[in-house]
Amino acid sequence: MPEDTKPIQTMADLLRQGATLTELSCPACSSPLFKLRNGKLWCAQCQKRVIVVKEGTSPTEATGQVVLGTLESTVLSKIQEIEKKIREETDPQKLEKLSSLLSKLLENLEKLRKMTRT
Ligand SMILES: [Zn+2]
Repeated sequence: MPEDTKPIQTMADLLRQGATLTELSCPACSSPLFKLRNGKLWCAQCQKRVIVVKEGTSPTEATGQVVLGTLESTVLSKIQEIEKKIREETDPQKLEKLSSLLSKLLENLEKLRKMTRT
């Protein structure tokens, strides 16, 4: 099958799987977005999930993912820093502060991961 007929095939497959065509268009390629049965938006042309922050607002795609990716690495590096401090720290009070900070960061990391993973 020639490369350029692939998206059409994918669209047909999506519809067969119960996805619906939405009025939204992909910010990257302007092709119509599909709503998958799990509620996620999908661009058949880009073969990518598209994130819409709020119903009715324009979809943000790659940029949103990039920001979340950067945030994730920031949180990860902070976790590493704190982990190192915890290892060196002997004062119980400081340790307690560090570990509560660590658990907050881990929570954030978990949230971020839920947002970025499909
Ligand atoms: Zn697209």
